Amino acid sequence: MNFKRLKDAKLKGKTALVRVDFNVPTDAKGRISDDTRLRAAVPTIKAIQKAGGRVVLLSHFGRPEGKVDPKLSLEFLVPTLVDLLEDEVHFGDQIHEALIDSMAPGDVLLLENTRFHAGETKGDKELAKQYAALGDVYIQDAFSASHRNHVSSAVIAEFLPAYAGLNMERELDHLAQALDVPKKPVMGVVGGAKVSTKIELLSNLVQKLDILAIGGGMANTFLFALGHRVGKSLHEPDFKDTALEIMKSAKKAKCRILLPVDGVAAKEFKADAKHRVVGLDDVKATEMILDAGPETVEGLLDAMDSARTLIWNGPLGAFEMTPFDTSTVEAAKYAAKLAKDGKLIAVAGGGDTVAALNHAGVADDFTFISTAGGAFLEWMEGKPLPGIEILKK
Ligand code: AMP
Repeated sequence: MNFKRLKDAKLKGKTALVRVDFNVPTDAKGRISDDTRLRAAVPTIKAIQKAGGRVVLLSHFGRPEGKVDPKLSLEFLVPTLVDLLEDEVHFGDQIHEALIDSMAPGDVLLLENTRFHAGETKGDKELAKQYAALGDVYIQDAFSASHRNHVSSAVIAEFLPAYAGLNMERELDHLAQALDVPKKPVMGVVGGAKVSTKIELLSNLVQKLDILAIGGGMANTFLFALGHRVGKSLHEPDFKDTALEIMKSAKKAKCRILLPVDGVAAKEFKADAKHRVVGLDDVKATEMILDAGPETVEGLLDAMDSARTLIWNGPLGAFEMTPFDTSTVEAAKYAAKLAKDGKLIAVAGGGDTVAALNHAGVADDFTFISTAGGAFLEWMEGKPLPGIEILKK
């Protein structure tokens, strides 16, 4: 993708407003429970410092709904940022130009939660102008917030030249590799609970992929639509026609749909429930399919062998409970091995998908894993993301 990168920005002696995602998870005592998002911001901050620029960090945290809420202040992040950067970090609770006047090149300032301002989520131009007045360039480094047309994630770019930060660059380059300009054949694996939450995603993917494997609860809706008995399995009868339409458009677009040919069924939705492998019309009225069966997995692995690129979202079964994590773990391990051997570009993303790949212990071997939830899904749906549109040349 052709977009403006950090290296294109003039930073020496300038002030860069950097949109980061510091919406970190916290524990019951309000302490940072995972600092991945803070660590992720370090390379861009250091690059701007090295180029002689001042860094002003902008992020949202939680949902204060346009009001100042001391419990959602970003100030608690400062000590961790100081440790990670091994440098001083200033904090500013107001959008105030005087703050910037006192900064020297290389200084870092964290501004208060952008969502304390009512205009932030409304994309208010006056608020954007106030922020823009603080700096010379705008660096968007938060892919995970790029699907929102909020002031800090997109609208400031109407008033300042905008560039992708290093994180954003990495994300966009990998995503382009998976869907925009992939090595063919390109295969998708889409699992998860429901068809209803992924209609747009499936409809977009069938236009772009050579093979689409459908798994998880949503596969049951497809099987049901084809007239198979699914018993008590999670399925959405109201989305029968949607499933049929998706299959029809896949056929038209020459995208091969891979559906389960067997499953692992149980009578209870709980870990280690008594279970058995079932053929498609073999599911009893009292049973539910909780995982893909061995023949289905074999078909999936064969398809992966034939693909050069893989894009994955959603688990293939109720992976939080053993043994219904089996197909997800096996397929993930195989994709990771192919990626490690350089035979497959394997990209995955979405909340549960990251958890499932971590559970399989293969996250490091995938070519790229996006931790962005909503933004990753909207990108898979083919929607333009406001925080990325502003970076295009
Ligand atoms: P999603 O957020 O749409 O990706 O859905 C993820 C959830 O789908 C996980 O919590 C899985 O446990 C669940 N899931 C996947 N397959 C099944 C299935 N066959 N039956 C019930 N839940 C499932």
